[in-house]
Amino acid sequence: MTLYTVNRKQPISINNDPWEAYNDIEKHGRLTLSNVEFTTTNLCNMRCSHCAVGYTLQTKDPEPLPMDLIYRRLDEIPHLTTMSITGGEPMFSKKSIKNVIKPLLKYAQDRGIYVQMNSNLTLPQDRYLDIAEYIDVMHISHNWGTIQEFTDVGFGAMKKQPPLKAKLKLYEQMLDNASTLSEQGMFISAETMLNQSTVPYLDKIHREIVEDMKCSRHEVHPMYPVDFASSLNVLSLQEMKDAIRHLLEIRDPETWMLFGTLPFYPCIDDASDQALLQDLRNAHNVTMRNDPDGRNRLNVNVFTGDVIVTDFGDDNGSISNIQHDRLTDVFDQWLETSLAQSLNCHCPAFKCLGPNVLVKDTYYPNTNFRHNEKIMHEKYNMK
Ligand code: SF4
Repeated sequence: MTLYTVNRKQPISINNDPWEAYNDIEKHGRLTLSNVEFTTTNLCNMRCSHCAVGYTLQTKDPEPLPMDLIYRRLDEIPHLTTMSITGGEPMFSKKSIKNVIKPLLKYAQDRGIYVQMNSNLTLPQDRYLDIAEYIDVMHISHNWGTIQEFTDVGFGAMKKQPPLKAKLKLYEQMLDNASTLSEQGMFISAETMLNQSTVPYLDKIHREIVEDMKCSRHEVHPMYPVDFASSLNVLSLQEMKDAIRHLLEIRDPETWMLFGTLPFYPCIDDASDQALLQDLRNAHNVTMRNDPDGRNRLNVNVFTGDVIVTDFGDDNGSISNIQHDRLTDVFDQWLETSLAQSLNCHCPAFKCLGPNVLVKDTYYPNTNFRHNEKIMHEKYNMK
């Protein structure tokens, strides 16, 4: 029996970010599973040092689980609103495109589900054009302050290095794909991590994203120190505030900027943090997003069926498997865990859902956010 509802999609805008986890609080009164991310391939033509799956990439994909099982697990999620497709590079394997990605895209289209694809956008353009009609957000990374950063970090986890010329060609392809696909109407969102490598080049990166690549949105997220990214340097809170202020000054005000996973919270007693948050709230064409991991999202590996709470899956491993569990049950069980309970604070006056485990471990190891939540609720008379 099908349990799902069919959505009517409104255009994505600064007033409608379907990936915002707070939407579910407003619609359903609680954290709700509304976003499933699928890892659809372990293959990629690059091996970025900062890639979440960079060190698990393989040379041949195993057989995926039957699509009927995957459809059934999706059918069982009544409030499914968004789907994210990630890899590897999702467009790398023609077999995966045919057997997994296109079926998922068609499923999403039939249900009115917003789709984001995470891609490096370096493959021949016809591959992206072929699926353009199904994609709401094409999400790419742009952390390349210099060409050398691309040729070094973009292949940092690759044992046998390709020739320099081949690497440079991919960079050109990425720029050309981004501008052409943007001109043809694709919503491309380029993400830059704030870390010691990108901060000196934020002006150049922002200009390239806006002017050369013609992207619809520039996403900015701090870089957090997890194993796969240990070679890159994390910023202090003060350095991060300075970097964000600088970006606000030099940005193109006509381009949407989305700041996600920021380590600044209304309950932290620091005047400069609060001033920055207020400036971000007031800024034209700027939005902030609560972290979705474990708030409204689970990640499913289409080969193993393993389910992880994205981003901190490395530390906590698979929490279940779709071969024997419904995703809504997995999500409810996750919310009951002591880890989720310790993280999932909520202050309605600020539409804040608190930090994820990486943010807390990096910047607030000794802060009890549930205690802060209690104080905030009293202070602001929140229910
Ligand atoms: S939701 Fe959590 S992090 Fe946000 S203001 Fe409240 S207590 Fe602080």
